Amino acid sequence: MTADLPGFTFLTAGKVRDLYAPEGHDDLLLLVADDRVSAFDQVLSRPIPGRAALLTRLTRWWFDRLPEVPNHLADADDVVVPAEVADRSMLVERLSMHPVECVVRAYVTGSGYAEYRRTGSISGVPLPEGLQDGDRLPEPIFTPAYKAEQGEHDENIPFEKVVDLVGAETAEALRATSLAVFARATALAEAKGVLLADTKLEFGDDEQGRLVLADEVLTPDSSRYWDAAAYAEGRRGVSFDKQIIRDWLAAHWDGHGTPPDLPDEIVQRTADRYRELVDLLPA
Ligand code: ATP
Ligand code: MG
Repeated sequence: MTADLPGFTFLTAGKVRDLYAPEGHDDLLLLVADDRVSAFDQVLSRPIPGRAALLTRLTRWWFDRLPEVPNHLADADDVVVPAEVADRSMLVERLSMHPVECVVRAYVTGSGYAEYRRTGSISGVPLPEGLQDGDRLPEPIFTPAYKAEQGEHDENIPFEKVVDLVGAETAEALRATSLAVFARATALAEAKGVLLADTKLEFGDDEQGRLVLADEVLTPDSSRYWDAAAYAEGRRGVSFDKQIIRDWLAAHWDGHGTPPDLPDEIVQRTADRYRELVDLLPA
């Protein structure tokens, strides 16, 4: 999916995003999302039209609503983002990233639930006994993970490990800022009938050593958004965006080898679902 962008040097390809450097600006990066989607840890063959632009819009929308948290969005008079990627890319300040995935959870599910079942805690945060998959926690908790090299799984780490990695002051700031962002996002999402079960944030330091919120924020790729009405009816973990894909795959694929191509109808319904989420939030 990597495009030739005039004025930019291609750096690396992530799973569903590419990184470029604007020529003559070592201090900036262009993050370009594409429409591919992953489910069950597999990048699927069929892109979801419009997905990358909608996720990019959501990230910008959330940055706008978090004015007290410095973020990495940048602009430069002499950098022209090519029209072909304008609606699915962000020009950002190039930060020195902290190798910590700042995860906040208000509900226990997914890998967090698996760890809780094994240890009674997540990332060293002890939790009450008897929690079921999808239960709401007494309060949101910070459950950091060590950001593994590409291709490897991130590993949940206790807060003391974050202190070892980035120092006590930065570790405290990562935790406090992540919890504050989560609280603000929860209030806005719940007012729209959407539960924010968990999210993953990434931060870096700018040249002045200031902590800056980076990457994508509060998108359905970095977060679990659940349908509040479904949850209230006892249907747990109904993902706002990927449920249609997951349900279809679960019915048409045994989980081995390459997943089958999604049919047009599923691609279309998923694209509609993304639009619904974006329509819900902006107000
Ligand atoms: P990763 O596991 O590293 O996140 P990925 O396959 O998910 O890999 P992407 O998330 O698309 O790939 O890659 C984006 C990369 O850019 C991430 O490593 C992220 O930490 C990094 N990044 C995001 N914002 C900035 C920034 N402002 N400055 C420097 N790096 C950034
Ligand atoms: Mg990433």
